Amino acid sequence: MNLNDPIFADENKARAYFESIRWPNGPVCPHCKGTERVYRLEGQSHRPGLIHCNDCDGSFTVTTGGVMESSHIPLTKWALAFRLMAASKKGISAHQLHRMLGITYKSAWFLAMRVREAMGLPPAGRGTVGGPGKIVEVDETELAKSRKTKVRGGRSRSKNVSFVALVERDGKVRSAVIDGSKMMEVRNIVRTNLDGESILHTDGAQFYKALMPVGQHESVDHNKMYARDSNNGRVHTNTAEGYFSLFKRGLVGTYQHISPAHLPRYLAEFDFRMNNRVALGVNDDTRTERAVKGAEGKRLRYQGPSAA
Ligand SMILES: [Zn+2]
Repeated sequence: MNLNDPIFADENKARAYFESIRWPNGPVCPHCKGTERVYRLEGQSHRPGLIHCNDCDGSFTVTTGGVMESSHIPLTKWALAFRLMAASKKGISAHQLHRMLGITYKSAWFLAMRVREAMGLPPAGRGTVGGPGKIVEVDETELAKSRKTKVRGGRSRSKNVSFVALVERDGKVRSAVIDGSKMMEVRNIVRTNLDGESILHTDGAQFYKALMPVGQHESVDHNKMYARDSNNGRVHTNTAEGYFSLFKRGLVGTYQHISPAHLPRYLAEFDFRMNNRVALGVNDDTRTERAVKGAEGKRLRYQGPSAA
């Protein structure tokens, strides 16, 4: 699929594309999961793509119950946004989407946030990173401080915005915003997201101590060196640091400012592309399809671009 594909110009073809990904075996009613007694409502009196379910007497389209629901943006533009965001290595800003899709900046901002939501892991069944004997580097990084925000008592202060990444060497990555007391939070994130049989590689920070059984944690003191050899492989956190620099280059080039409230969605976007990268056998078409597939079952609360 290239950008000349008719799904980016023809609304019916775009709809057929989204339907083929969501319902490879034919429409499934999002209200009652029925598949037997669903039929298309054709003709002028119905909006395009409307399907009726005789089991529950409900109606739906391919956008019902997903991030595209209630959107007035044409499906051709949604298809292009999914494609551009899934296929560009460092991401695409709302400003770029605004210009490329010919929609308002505000619409582009909402659309980009919804695509990021689709790229995120499902709330349940997120699974863990690593596995028996697999090396997972864990490191944390601080982004530029966010704009000053008023806190109780009327004083302003800028808040640190940090995140931690678990990066399996030659494998998957999982990032999470560090919120609150750093030591506790980092430990909780690692406990929640790391397969307990992995080998953990970190720097010498205190909060990584005693997280893993003896023999499953190697650290390197960055005050003295950056890498050393051990029985558990070459110890370093270079892969995690490489991921941080990719993310930060993306931020500098693409996004002007990210508030802590929105950082999880940007991390989800970068994690998604990293976990579906070419080196893991995923091409642009498949990566885009996986993002589209992730749209199902996710909804987004209203949040305006002023808070971006
Ligand atoms: Zn139904």
